[in-house]
Amino acid sequence: MSVTGKVALITGAASGIGLEIAKEFAAAGAKVAIADLALPAAEAAAAAIVATGAEAMAVAMDVSSEAAVDAGVAAIVARFGRVDVLISNAGIQTISPIVDFKLDDWKRLLAIHLDGAFLTTRACMRQMMNTGGGTILYMGSVHSHEASPLKSAYVTAKHGLLGLARVVAKEGAAHGIRANIICPGFVRTPLVDKQIPEQAKALGISEADVIKNVMLKETVDGEFTTVADVARTALFLSGFESAALTGQSITVSHGWHMGG
Ligand code: NAD
Repeated sequence: MSVTGKVALITGAASGIGLEIAKEFAAAGAKVAIADLALPAAEAAAAAIVATGAEAMAVAMDVSSEAAVDAGVAAIVARFGRVDVLISNAGIQTISPIVDFKLDDWKRLLAIHLDGAFLTTRACMRQMMNTGGGTILYMGSVHSHEASPLKSAYVTAKHGLLGLARVVAKEGAAHGIRANIICPGFVRTPLVDKQIPEQAKALGISEADVIKNVMLKETVDGEFTTVADVARTALFLSGFESAALTGQSITVSHGWHMGG
C-alpha cells in the first residue's frame, strides 16, 4: 500500500516532527488531518499544504480529552470519509527530579502521551474496522527503551506506548490494522530547544555540554536526528503492505540506541 489517496490523522502536527510528517504525507498524495491543541498553527500548516495542491484540514484537538478526540475524528470522517492512518504524535516534556516532580505535571504528561494515544487509537480503530483496516503509528522515543535522569514521566509514558502498540497489533490484526512505534533520538524541535536550558540548570552544566555530553554523546556521529529522518520512516511504515511489520519498534537515533 502506498499512502496516495489515503486519509492520515496526525496529532501534534502543528509543529516539529508531526508537521514534517504531515508535509511528507501530503507530498506523497495523502489527505492529511492536522490535529493540534494550537488551532491557529494547525490552520496555518493546513493552508500551507493546501497551497501546494494537496488536501489538508486542521482539527482543534486536545488529545487528552475524550470528547475532543471523538469530535475531531468525526469531523475528519465527515470531510474525508474515512481514516486510514493514525499517527499518534502529540507530546510534551517535563524536566524535573522525581523528588520535586509535581503530581499535576506527572498527570498532565501521562494524559497527553498515554490517554491521547489510547483515545485516538480507539476512535480510529472503530473507523478502520468498518473500512477494511489501516495503520497506526505511535511516536515513541529512544526513551521507550532507555532511561535518563529528570524525565521520569516521559520515560514512563514512552515505555507505555510500546505496550499499547503491541496490543493494538494483536487486536487489530483480524481487522487489517497494523501498529508500530517509531523511536527517535534527539530532534531539534521546540520540545528539545525548551529543555536544553532546563537540563543545563538542573545538571549544573553549560547548554553546549547538554547537547554534546547528554543528548548526542552516544550517537555514532554526534548528529541530531532530523524531522525528515522521522517523517521518512513514518511514510515507509505506513505504506508497508503486510503484517510482517506489526507490533515493531523502529529506532531512528543515529545509533544512540541499537536495541530495537
Ligand atoms: P513539538 O513541541 O515541536 O510539537 C508537539 C506538538 O504537540 C505541538 O504542536 C503541540 O501544540 C502539540 N500538543 C501538545 N499537547 C497537545 C495536546 N494535549 N493535544 C494535541 N496536541 C498537543 O514537539 P516534537 O519534538 O515535534 O514532538 C512530537 C513527538 O515526538 C512527541 O510525542 C515527542 O515526545 C516525540 N519525540 C520527540 C523527540 C525530539 O527530540 N524532539 C524525540 C523523540 C520523540
